[in-house]
Amino acid sequence: MKVLQAYRFALDPAPAQERMLRSHAGAARFAWNWGLARCMQRHAAEGSWYSGIDLHKLWNAEKKADTALAWWDQNSKCAYQEAFRDLDRALRDFIKSRKGERKGRRLGFPRFKKRGRCRDSFRFTTGAIGCAGTTVTLPRLGTIRTCESTRKLARRLDSGTARILSATVSRTAQRWFVSFTAEVDRAVPPRHARPGTAIGIDLGVKTLLTGADHAGHIIAVTGPRALRVSLRRLRRASRAHSRKARGSTNRRKAAARLARLHARVASVRADALHKATSQLARRYETVVAEDLNVAGMTRNRRLARAVADAGFGAAVRMLGYKTTRNGGTLVLAGRWYPSSKTCSGCGAVKAKLALSERTYRCHGCGLVIDRDVNAAANLLGLAVSGTERINACGGTVRPGTTGQVPVNQEPGTAHAGKTGTASGQPLAATRELTHAH
Ligand SMILES: [Zn+2]
Repeated sequence: MKVLQAYRFALDPAPAQERMLRSHAGAARFAWNWGLARCMQRHAAEGSWYSGIDLHKLWNAEKKADTALAWWDQNSKCAYQEAFRDLDRALRDFIKSRKGERKGRRLGFPRFKKRGRCRDSFRFTTGAIGCAGTTVTLPRLGTIRTCESTRKLARRLDSGTARILSATVSRTAQRWFVSFTAEVDRAVPPRHARPGTAIGIDLGVKTLLTGADHAGHIIAVTGPRALRVSLRRLRRASRAHSRKARGSTNRRKAAARLARLHARVASVRADALHKATSQLARRYETVVAEDLNVAGMTRNRRLARAVADAGFGAAVRMLGYKTTRNGGTLVLAGRWYPSSKTCSGCGAVKAKLALSERTYRCHGCGLVIDRDVNAAANLLGLAVSGTERINACGGTVRPGTTGQVPVNQEPGTAHAGKTGTASGQPLAATRELTHAH
């Protein structure tokens, strides 16, 4: 199976290389702004914009004619070209969003980028791109050392099971990263190595994730100590930052420190999530998680919550492709499925459950259970009901795939809340679910 996979490595550039990286990021920013200004001019005059290709042609003509642009050839031409492509996409997305053809929150008109106020990034799609053990090679920039091993990708490139499509370089809080998008040829087992296994997982703030599996085991991944330590530091840095006077040097310094800590927490968290999700996908054929409204959640003001929310979407994405890779399935519970409010013992649904209530107490059957474990058990129940349902119609026994129609998700992902069957008849289990809403 051919899949697109991203490989991201932290770079350790020499000072001269770092200058080149900044220069390329500046070139991409300049090209974006240059193109946006051209598009706006034309739109004011003729009511239409330039396409990415038109912008590139226009740029090629102008860069040679205008002596003020003579510095252009200090950077790879890719940096400009890809910026035009990005702008083209941003304009198209804006139109689509305005017409209601694009999912997610409404997009505004593309804005001009300002140094220090935007994400520094640029992309290569052609030229000498590669990696070898502890280095990466990029056009114009040459060979740059990496902070971590690139062997995983290098091996695949050597054996011909991966092909790099693009390399995006970006900066997060003074650190540079390269992210390769590669087309990887992956051997996917036709069936999961442990058929019939299932787990429901609840993503949390304090504990990274809590799981309840088919055999009755409870799995709690608390996340590394480093994460808790950095979260504490982040809180302190955030308070310190807010106390500094606006526009002061101290505020700028505090902001840089805060950004560094944010980046650290995000990377420690992502690392822990990668490890946990890889293991889950290997050990369980069916993984059930909640479909979270990530876009809405990240607007939460509480710091720990906001940081965790940012990881939720990533965790669900990881589970999606990792279960597929192992021949398993990720089942997503509908957004309104009350996994926390439902009693995993008797199925009673509470009208209200405050976030501060860490223990679930059922008034119906008297069950007293940890809140997260209860939620995980309910999610596991969705996988089990999926199996029963498919068995009942005499289809295959493989849970979560046959009877469920993936709804705009990565391959191998199915929605438990919005399922149908081959015959199109909603079955008892599905109906029950809908009623529980
Ligand atoms: Zn109960």
